[in-house]
Amino acid sequence: MGKRSIHLETKDAIIKFALLDDILNLARANSLWPMTFGLACCAIEMMSTAMAKFDLARFGAEIFRPSPRQADVMIVSGTVTKKMAPLLVTLYEQMPAPKWVIAMGNCAISGGPFLFEDQYNLVEGVDLLVPVDVYVPGCPPRPEALLEGLLKLEEKLTGKRRFPTPEAKW
Ligand code: SF4
Repeated sequence: MGKRSIHLETKDAIIKFALLDDILNLARANSLWPMTFGLACCAIEMMSTAMAKFDLARFGAEIFRPSPRQADVMIVSGTVTKKMAPLLVTLYEQMPAPKWVIAMGNCAISGGPFLFEDQYNLVEGVDLLVPVDVYVPGCPPRPEALLEGLLKLEEKLTGKRRFPTPEAKW
């Protein structure tokens, strides 16, 4: 090539893709779309999180989608029974990638208060069915805890925390 020719090759392709991924992940983190999906009492707290008092819209995640094909976050809020398990997996598989799962409440994490010897119809943790990104413990967790779970998910996507970590006051 002559001195004045345009050099189209780049050594930095991977770095540029990484930058693009960073930008996409920032956009995704600020616009999470949860699926409208509740299994038991924890779902009431999830609904409360989206209402005016707790205002999930502040974090860009208030658009609960009625179809898994339009959602990128599954919040498993409630007891997962063996009867419900195949439906939950189907819904997860219908969500387009990238996608994330929040296990909300002790039932979704490990079976909660329904975990006892010889129980016959409980999935002892939704992570036995689908990969879980964030665990929000409680029975039920308060809306603030779910908000904290969403912030954790954002942090996982961007590598940065949007707000300072709350201090324990006890
Ligand atoms: S963790 Fe507690 S509040 Fe949540 S679904 Fe289970 S029993 Fe209900």
